[in-house]
Amino acid sequence: MSKNPAPPIPSDPVISLQDVEKRYHRGGEDVHALNGVTFDIPAGQFVVILGPSGGGKSTLLHLMGGMDRPSHGSVVVLGRNLESLTSDGLAAYRRRDVGFVFQSFHLLPGLTAEENVALPLLLAGTPLKERQSRANALLARVGLADRAHHKPGQLSGGQAQRVAVARALAADPPIILADEPTGNLDSKSGQEIIELLRSLAHQDGRTVIVVTHNEEFAPLADRVLRVRDGQLIKDDVKRVPESPERPGPLSTRHVSFFALVRMAWSAITRRIGRGILTGLGIAIGVAAMVLFIGLGSGLEAGVVKNVTALGPLTTVNVSPSGGHSSPFQPAVSQGPVKPITPATIQAIRKIPGVRGVYLNLTYFTNARFQNRNTTIDFLLLPPPSLWNVPSILPTLAAGRVGSGDQDILLSKTIAQALVGPGHAPRTILGRHLTVTVQAMTAGLFSGGQSISPPTKRIPPLTLTITGLVSTAGVGYLAYPLGARLTPDFVPPGQGQTYPGLTVITANLNQVTPVANAIQKMGYSTTTLQQALGTIEKSFSVIETALGAIGGIALVVAGLMIGVVMSMAVLERRREIGVLKAVGARRRDVSRLFLSEAGIIGFTGGVVGVLLGAGVGHIIDFALRHTTAQLGPIFVLPVWLIGLGLAFGTGVSVIAGAIPASHAAGLNPVDALRDE
Ligand code: ADP
Ligand code: MG
Repeated sequence: MSKNPAPPIPSDPVISLQDVEKRYHRGGEDVHALNGVTFDIPAGQFVVILGPSGGGKSTLLHLMGGMDRPSHGSVVVLGRNLESLTSDGLAAYRRRDVGFVFQSFHLLPGLTAEENVALPLLLAGTPLKERQSRANALLARVGLADRAHHKPGQLSGGQAQRVAVARALAADPPIILADEPTGNLDSKSGQEIIELLRSLAHQDGRTVIVVTHNEEFAPLADRVLRVRDGQLIKDDVKRVPESPERPGPLSTRHVSFFALVRMAWSAITRRIGRGILTGLGIAIGVAAMVLFIGLGSGLEAGVVKNVTALGPLTTVNVSPSGGHSSPFQPAVSQGPVKPITPATIQAIRKIPGVRGVYLNLTYFTNARFQNRNTTIDFLLLPPPSLWNVPSILPTLAAGRVGSGDQDILLSKTIAQALVGPGHAPRTILGRHLTVTVQAMTAGLFSGGQSISPPTKRIPPLTLTITGLVSTAGVGYLAYPLGARLTPDFVPPGQGQTYPGLTVITANLNQVTPVANAIQKMGYSTTTLQQALGTIEKSFSVIETALGAIGGIALVVAGLMIGVVMSMAVLERRREIGVLKAVGARRRDVSRLFLSEAGIIGFTGGVVGVLLGAGVGHIIDFALRHTTAQLGPIFVLPVWLIGLGLAFGTGVSVIAGAIPASHAAGLNPVDALRDE
């Protein structure tokens, strides 16, 4: 091996390798891909590396290109030791200082020629207009001005490789590295590519290093390096260029969010079937969640409305039994029952904070209207002296609250039953109803365990219907009439007692003290405040359970997304490798995958909310008229829409996070390796 006369080495080589080794572990044994390689390359040189397959040429190029790190020795490029760079630093180096050209082109199949060329600029955060004009200028330079909008599949090999060269030039890098760029080309195209690469050195003053095993290209080079078995065996320098003007490095900004989303979107549309499937999984999960929570809150709002329709929140209901009772659990009698007597009413009237006290009871009756019979439970309206208490009167659906002794209110459903189908319930207003009282029991929220039949005969009453209420299945008697009937239920030889009382307190703050005072007297009390609390508590349990079912559906959908994304990462190794080779940072790659997951999740969320709302409204429409619900059965508050969208997007992004980080962590050389 004859040593060449020492060439004049310029003061600052562009690339300097010092004793570089690269070992791979494969199947338990060490492969020495490079074994102590040392050389300097000055700026502007057109270098050809020749050698047999497996000799370490690609490894050498990868180390110079910052695609991989040496096991030993140093690679210094443009005065910087690549060893000292972080992975983001290496990405920036690949983005700004080197352009890579591969044997198999490695263009992204979903992007046009122009977009492929502009990819390094996109990763450098260059604005769209500038990217486009620069990409087109470069395509013109490689003779493909008319192919800007072709996809790689529509190009010949020679054209594809010229697009790849244009991409390598996008960031105007001082170094171009090409790994067997003619390996997949016919000899004419190969010749053209080599000429093109040579011009990048001789016209532009870039440092161009081309790996090949084609001896024909050796005469074109300024210098030929021969590599075999991981070692530099010959270094032929034919020309040392004048120190050329080096192209200035590209300034980098962050990748624009919009550009990332556009890329993510194009990746999704390229595999639209799969995107739709995963999106559908999310949509179904979100729909279930929106539907269940919407139904739960609709029902709750309806029940709460029904309860508040029963009277003001300043109400305390009193029943005879001792201890404490809730509306859903009749008071359990502890010790002897203390009856409510007229004296009790007098005593409660004297408690501070009490605004009014009246009987709370229900009459079970048979009612007759024309030839129709029905049973009606009549509650008592409050006495007229308390009518000015806000919301003490039931909510009217039609007519008015009459002031006469015989005037009554009926629920719309009863009125409908009495007038029969084909007539509006309100046609019953002003008509007479014949009512026979059968029994008396406690009113709402007053225990209500004892039912007493009358002890005297009560003649049928003729009553006038003056108004309709929305509350389900009840009627209201005028207070004086209702009170006048109570003596008819007293057994002979006993004093007057009542099944329950309603106490109205002066304000909300008095509810608890008054209830406590009444309990001290030995009675049990229930307040609407407590009732509402109990209802809200039980509904929040129901809603949580229903929401959880939707949530499980969503988690399953999320797992699906995770699996699909993991598959996508495997399938798109090549694409990830290309992105990394042209300078994508870890976070660019992970953001790209997360954007895809986010787009699918958000779109699935939108569809899911629409689906859930649609089904909810259908259920609402179907059930609204068959139940006594006051309001809608399904509600879709803005927060629920937000929750649906957030969950759809969130689950998808979380499920995509692991595959995305896996993609981001891939080593570019591994990702690009043909297997
Ligand atoms: P060339 O490009 O000259 O054909 P390479 O640089 O690709 O050679 O490979 C040099 C040696 O290192 C070969 O024996 C090859 O099998 C081995 N090699 C390259 N890359 C890897 C890798 N990622 N893992 C294990 N062995 C590798
Ligand atoms: Mg190779």
